[in-house]
Amino acid sequence: MDTHAVEGDKRDVLDCDVVVVGAGVGGLNSIYHLLGQGKSVRAFEAGSEVGGTWYWNKYPGARVDIESLEYSYGFSEEVQQEWKWPLLYSEQPSVLEYLNWVCDRLGLRDSIEFDTRVTSARFEEEANCWVVETDGGETVRCRHCVMALGFLCDPYVPEFPGLGSFEGGFVHTARWPAEGIELKGKRVGVIGTGASAVQAITTIAPDVGELKVFQRTPNWCFPIRNDTIAAGYEAPVKADYAEVRRREYAEGFAGMILVDGKIAPARMTPALDATSEERETAYWERYRVGGPHIFFIWADQMSNLDANKTLADFLAERIRERVHDRETAAKLIPDHPIWSRRPPGESGFYEVFNLDHVELVDSRANPISSFTPGGIVMDDGTEHELDVVLLATGFDAGAGALNRIDIRGRRDESLRERWQAEGVRTLLGMMVSGFPNMYILDGVQSPACFFSPPLLVDAQSRWISRVVGRSGSPHVK
Ligand code: NAP
Repeated sequence: MDTHAVEGDKRDVLDCDVVVVGAGVGGLNSIYHLLGQGKSVRAFEAGSEVGGTWYWNKYPGARVDIESLEYSYGFSEEVQQEWKWPLLYSEQPSVLEYLNWVCDRLGLRDSIEFDTRVTSARFEEEANCWVVETDGGETVRCRHCVMALGFLCDPYVPEFPGLGSFEGGFVHTARWPAEGIELKGKRVGVIGTGASAVQAITTIAPDVGELKVFQRTPNWCFPIRNDTIAAGYEAPVKADYAEVRRREYAEGFAGMILVDGKIAPARMTPALDATSEERETAYWERYRVGGPHIFFIWADQMSNLDANKTLADFLAERIRERVHDRETAAKLIPDHPIWSRRPPGESGFYEVFNLDHVELVDSRANPISSFTPGGIVMDDGTEHELDVVLLATGFDAGAGALNRIDIRGRRDESLRERWQAEGVRTLLGMMVSGFPNMYILDGVQSPACFFSPPLLVDAQSRWISRVVGRSGSPHVK
């Protein structure tokens, strides 16, 4: 870093080399690599601590759907050796604890300002720098800007007529209060059956007085069979971690390669070349172990509809076995190919529908019409009286969070307006022409949501830090 400002030329005096926006899984990773390049970094985080997704999503049952030993940073051998995960699939508090630990272990915290939201970032052409403004009234000039906002950070709340008039409480899963919400004995409605809903429903079902699950589209769920990590499970993985990480990228499915603690890449043979008995045996094997690797047994499971259907038929049968009421089971079986939507992991989700106080409400056949002070009214006039509604309705995914920041590139062009007018166009989801030295992590048009996030952001952060590392040093205050 060159600390000698050019006398009289204030345009060239910058506050730091790089501003990183966000201190979640991606932001922390990026800060680490950029500091490693000897760059000065200032990061701004809207939350009060690190974590991003894992800071905001405190709803009951929130946890990873990728095995803990894989849903973790691989960029530091010390970090991956020292940390010990309690569960096969970590719960939200545990992931948050891990990210805080990494932050301190690698000395990243001093670079982060919390409770600070970036409101605008403007590229100043003449000075070749970004001018970043925060809601705290601060203005920071830097050469590079890394948007580590996450793919899913802006909760999506549908505009249900009358939602505001509902006298019970409603809360989005991604804005669950840290102190929790008392649901014991209450009449609770959950809207949505995506990954967040599946986890929340399974966790709250035993405690609530009545549970109505409003499902528009069922999803293909996979069992995770979460448990504590057995003695002797972790050591062989840790002994071979470098190879595990290499093969997660090279051969893994969505960045996952471990099956029951062992490296197990997909077979290179098509599902339809196997006999139905061989397929059945393979599906049962993985179903019993639990985990997303049931989706990557054969080479063509995600590319051939007939191959895909062999697993769909297998999973549909499991749903019919587990859900006692035939009509409810039928409603829970999707009609889309597996992995055309992100499959949620589940641990006892289907059994919830065998409880007397739980009802599956088909909001595709009979959509939600409006909210009243007492509950939800469907199109056909049926009313569901509720005390609390959980909106597990997802996110304004991809560009949503970026669009909330007033980002202006060359010639004062607005990124939001360009994308609205022309559609989203990026370089590999990481850069946008006309917005020099601005980088996006885990963003729209990247493999976000379909690749293990810690691995994805690490590959992106390494690339970004190498680009940043090669650029000349500005004059930094
Ligand atoms: P989501 O998958 O987008 O699900 C939203 C749900 O709300 C869907 O069931 C959707 O129905 C329903 N919905 C939305 N608008 C509605 C409306 N107007 N009326 C009725 N229903 C409506 O959101 P999510 O469950 O929060 O998951 C989002 C992503 O977050 C996941 O794909 C995953 O990548 C990530 N995630 C990961 C984990 C994990 O790994 N542990 C956990 C949670 C979330 P339709 O399907 O019909 O649109």
